[in-house]
Amino acid sequence: MKIKLYGIRGSLPSNLLPSEQVAFHTKVLEDYNDSGEKNVQAFLRNYNRFALGGLGTDTTSIYVVSDDEENDLIIDGGSGIRRLGNVMASTERSTTRQIDILMTHFHWDHLIGLPFFAPLYQKGVEVNFYCVEGFCETALKTIFKKPFFPVPFESLQSEIYFHTLPAREPTELNGFQVTPYRLQHPDPCWGYKIEKNGKTYSHCVDNEGERISREDLGADLPLYQNVDLCYFDAQYSISDFFDRPSWGHSTAQIGLEIAMREGIKQMIFAHHDPSTTPEQIVEMANDLQVFYDKKMNLSTNKTEHNLHPVQWEFAQEGTEFIL
Ligand SMILES: [Zn+2]
Ligand SMILES: [Zn+2]
Repeated sequence: MKIKLYGIRGSLPSNLLPSEQVAFHTKVLEDYNDSGEKNVQAFLRNYNRFALGGLGTDTTSIYVVSDDEENDLIIDGGSGIRRLGNVMASTERSTTRQIDILMTHFHWDHLIGLPFFAPLYQKGVEVNFYCVEGFCETALKTIFKKPFFPVPFESLQSEIYFHTLPAREPTELNGFQVTPYRLQHPDPCWGYKIEKNGKTYSHCVDNEGERISREDLGADLPLYQNVDLCYFDAQYSISDFFDRPSWGHSTAQIGLEIAMREGIKQMIFAHHDPSTTPEQIVEMANDLQVFYDKKMNLSTNKTEHNLHPVQWEFAQEGTEFIL
């Protein structure tokens, strides 16, 4: 199973202004001059990847695909789905294919890309939308209504179907086993545990993550158990998180805490706030490393029990993970 990140921003698409890009590239060039390195590629290889390429622009859309690329699922239709749709529409089987899209919830940042998803306009394509909440069809048709968008839903060329998934029960979907679990968000939002060939991807965005203990997570605890890769809401730094209670988003420390306890192998921290800069992500990663080292050190010294080592990183658009 491969997981490709097409949109990692939270709340609103966001990128640097041209003037900010100039400052950004000036810094890279100055660092290159100061480094004494003559080979540009060698210099760039060692440069911080966020400082070099930024975080990414688009809001949530994640592509899950089998190793042989025969089966796939999409999670959410944020602005990132536009680029994914262009890739899909340009492939050989583009006009005869079935596309399955899991919706976590209906906040704008998770559906604004759908009117720009090219396969919806292709004759012969079947698009299935899945969600736990019963109002998926109404919500998605609304975004194609005037005065929000000029193309009416009824004129889309693809065949479109809506399905409701049972909460906390596995469903076989295009070769994947999909189980929805409830996340913590101001409007109902569902995370997805996706399993195939003994590998598991867990999608946990948008999620405030106030429920941390096994007891508080209750029936939703399995979302974090036996997981190879988990995509977790880390919209805020730890200080911003405490300043914004009930805003529906979390911080990396909370995800890492759960991961160390439950033995999640790898964490991706995502849904970056639109105002978050690459420099802030580097700072957040440094803070998180201190937190992680301290916890693991305590664990080794037996004052905290049974913590598992976890690989983690902050999301950058375009990254692909192979499980
Ligand atoms: Zn969101
Ligand atoms: Zn949301």
